Amino acid sequence: MTHVVTLNAGSSSLKFGLFTLQSDDPVAICTGVVDRIGSEEAHIGAKTSDGRVLGGAVPEGIPDHLEAMNHVLDLLAQQFPGAEIVAVGHRIVHGGPDRDRPILLTPDSLQALEGLSPFAPLHQPYNLQGVRAAIRRFPDAAQVACFDTAFHRSHPWVNDTFALPPEYYEMGVRRYGFHGLSYEYIANHLAKTAPLLHGGRVIVAHLGNGASMCGMINGRSVGSSMGFTALDGLPMGTRCGQLDPGVVLYLMEQKGMSAEEITELLYRKSGLLGLSGLSNDMRTLEQVGTGAARRAISYFNFRARRELGALAAVLGGLDAVVFTGGIGENSVLVRERICGSMGWLGIELDHDANTDHARIISTPLSRVQVMVIPTNEELVIARAAARFVYPEMYQGQLDTAAPDIA
Ligand code: AMP
Repeated sequence: MTHVVTLNAGSSSLKFGLFTLQSDDPVAICTGVVDRIGSEEAHIGAKTSDGRVLGGAVPEGIPDHLEAMNHVLDLLAQQFPGAEIVAVGHRIVHGGPDRDRPILLTPDSLQALEGLSPFAPLHQPYNLQGVRAAIRRFPDAAQVACFDTAFHRSHPWVNDTFALPPEYYEMGVRRYGFHGLSYEYIANHLAKTAPLLHGGRVIVAHLGNGASMCGMINGRSVGSSMGFTALDGLPMGTRCGQLDPGVVLYLMEQKGMSAEEITELLYRKSGLLGLSGLSNDMRTLEQVGTGAARRAISYFNFRARRELGALAAVLGGLDAVVFTGGIGENSVLVRERICGSMGWLGIELDHDANTDHARIISTPLSRVQVMVIPTNEELVIARAAARFVYPEMYQGQLDTAAPDIA
């Protein structure tokens, strides 16, 4: 039976999946994650579709992504010895200004993607390391790149640019937007389960350790909170979210901080962790309930409400809000705080449904429907990879007319 492997490399983690191509949609038979790559506390955790738990601590540590990839591929080969891998799908954070869909990787396209590493130095090199390891391991399989930026290429120019002279736009200083695979999953899910809403104005709140929002019309992105890098927009686990660029100048000029120190501050020491001084983890902050933890949660919710209102204005109104990501899917408190005061926008939260983690958490009379939909980026990658091998079997993303927004 033919299979697809999915690989999704973060700065210190590697998510993976093994899918069979036996029906009209790829089916996951094993998904997992390698955590804490680069430390001596590395850990592999995986679950199979028949309920087996695989992996465990790796006492000798995992020094880098290449090694992590080898551990994953060894584990899959051991557990699923008969699996014929026909394609490997890779999450690649940056596709540049023009790539609006997955591509089949060739030596030339791989080199072109390497040229984008300066735009995403904390992610792109690891993503491409994964590609090289997979090519070595599966030289005959199709290697498919799925870009986090691709879903947002339908942005109108006003949401793609900064107010800088045009030469900066031309050199690639643009609002790319990220989390595109998650938004694509939600858009396709809505198309199948709620076609009327899919055709309308929807804001998707992907709230996890990384967090962003995307405004869609007709299933296409018209605006998102993330910009040139995955730092902008909402505060995150350890990233600051929107920040006056004057702060960076001040830290450099007046406080003598280096680019490296500021990078460390903005990417790894800010957000929920920075504000609380305690943890980047929303569940932990909700449980401890100290003053600093409460303030961090308040700031997160405040910025989320602000971004929701701003995107509703961009969309010219609102028909649905979708919560997804670890926080969006699980935090009753965060959903309550974001939606509780949004009556002016037509959102009426059903508090019981929210507490029960129902799929629809707005009241029947709410003008805006509020939903919770678990995201599945791995499935989006597996579908894309499968399409390159069996184009007639695995249809493309439902294509809809690009919205016309000035
Ligand atoms: P993700 O990056 O999408 O895996 O999401 C991770 C975030 O989801 C972390 O901040 C977790 O604390 C948060 N999270 C997961 N489960 C819950 C929960 N039950 N309540 C609050 N936050 C949660």
